[in-house]
Amino acid sequence: MKNSMRKHGLTALLTASLAVTTTALTWGNSAHAAEDVNLYSTRQPFLMKPLTDAFTKETGIKVNMVYLKKGMLERLKTEGMNSPADLILTTDIGNLHNHLKAGLLQSVSSDTLNKRIPVQYRHPDGLWYGLTMRARVIYAHKDRVKPGEITRYEDLAAPHMKGRVCIRSGKHVYNVSLLASMVVALGEDGARTWAKSLRENLARKPQGNDRAQVKAVYEGQCDVAVGNTYYMGKMATNEKSPEQKDWAKSVRIIFPNQADRGTHVNISGAAVTKSARNKANALKLIEYLSSASAQKIYAETNFEYPVLDGVALHPIVASWGTFKADKAYLAKIAEQRSLASRLVDQVAFNK
Ligand code: FE
Repeated sequence: MKNSMRKHGLTALLTASLAVTTTALTWGNSAHAAEDVNLYSTRQPFLMKPLTDAFTKETGIKVNMVYLKKGMLERLKTEGMNSPADLILTTDIGNLHNHLKAGLLQSVSSDTLNKRIPVQYRHPDGLWYGLTMRARVIYAHKDRVKPGEITRYEDLAAPHMKGRVCIRSGKHVYNVSLLASMVVALGEDGARTWAKSLRENLARKPQGNDRAQVKAVYEGQCDVAVGNTYYMGKMATNEKSPEQKDWAKSVRIIFPNQADRGTHVNISGAAVTKSARNKANALKLIEYLSSASAQKIYAETNFEYPVLDGVALHPIVASWGTFKADKAYLAKIAEQRSLASRLVDQVAFNK
């Protein structure tokens, strides 16, 4: 670490101390070669390590990854242009957009990425690129919810769902993005009315994570829950907490709005930092992650959907059936996130 400390002073010191506290790969104990790619990731090592290893094997470019469960935005703000990070990987358009708004990203262009990644899942100026997709769906109790009883997000707010809905905090990044997509679809007033009526339909105050909502359905506190698709796969295969298999078995996935605009889909994605010293190889890594072989591993390992067309799905993901996704550009949805967050307060969603 000595050499890099001399190079980046306090920044390297911060990096060194934080890297030690991460359970993931650390920067190692030598200065980084100029061609290395330095990656900050909120995506977990179990998911990223096989991919970065395969990338290194294919290209000879080493990847130094720091896993940051929390605090990536704050860390990049503190490090500024001295940040060693070339590239970030994170989930949800909200997180990518927050880095963009803080001026921490730079635009990169690539014909390969533009060809592989559908236009609604990348920033129009190349400031971020989606790499995997997850749909925000309705989890419905298999018996207590009749087929056809709930088919749209709008139905969550309908009178027949009174006291039957469970959802996590309205301020959580996933729900702010969902509400932002409702702003795009229904306008500000429509989205406010929806959020207000949904709040009135809740079986309990928003609490817990997505899986906790499905647990509440299993336990009979509510009949429907809102959650991301990959949690169904994670619960159904959970050997560490096998009770989650029962939660998963009690529900079916409903892809909302199939007869109209489609289901809200969010992404995990990558972006090149403004401070990147190795922009070219950072771009190579994003391109690698969008390739067919990487997409299969990347999406499958976490029960997500690949952004690249034609890549086989995990059999569990395939078992949920095909669906139509909302075509609205995520960059456009992201611009409505501040408003969506204010609407959550206006309707006292979490109170
Ligand atoms: Fe999640």
